[in-house]
Amino acid sequence: MDIERMTVKEFREFGFLQELNRQFLHPLGLALEVIIDEEDGSERFGEVWDYRCDPEGIRFAEFSVDEMERGLRIKELQEEKGKTRRSHLGYIIQPFVEVQPLVEGEGKHRCEPGYDFDEERQVFPSAGFGAAIIACYEDEEGKLWAVNSEYCIQVNFCPFCGYAAREQVEWKPS
Ligand SMILES: [Zn+2]
Repeated sequence: MDIERMTVKEFREFGFLQELNRQFLHPLGLALEVIIDEEDGSERFGEVWDYRCDPEGIRFAEFSVDEMERGLRIKELQEEKGKTRRSHLGYIIQPFVEVQPLVEGEGKHRCEPGYDFDEERQVFPSAGFGAAIIACYEDEEGKLWAVNSEYCIQVNFCPFCGYAAREQVEWKPS
């Protein structure tokens, strides 16, 4: 299968570069640069700015309307893809450990009090990160999974309502 590609220009214009920087690289003190060829307008990736020595990391001075629109566009894509990934794979960001896909169906326990991608409306304390737990689902085997936007963990009781898992966490002596 051929790999589908976009140009660096498209990557930047859509907002991927900005949000890669804002959401991931800037907090680490890094920034990926794109170099625009003044002659023909083509764009390519440059190097990575390294301000790890700066305790606060990099930040934008202020946001233009264009930049805010790019941010929204990426957020919509994150929400759309996130829902599918979480329901099909059990995670959005792939964890290093294996997780059970969430099985959504009738008769299974589910509590979603914090099921919300919008940080402004985030239900649980997050201190700038994602909340630790935002929902709890029961799978086909009766196991309970507490999830946030990145991973899920098997639990014996729903952290929201106290529902007891039909299938308890398997105890592995260390
Ligand atoms: Zn519950």
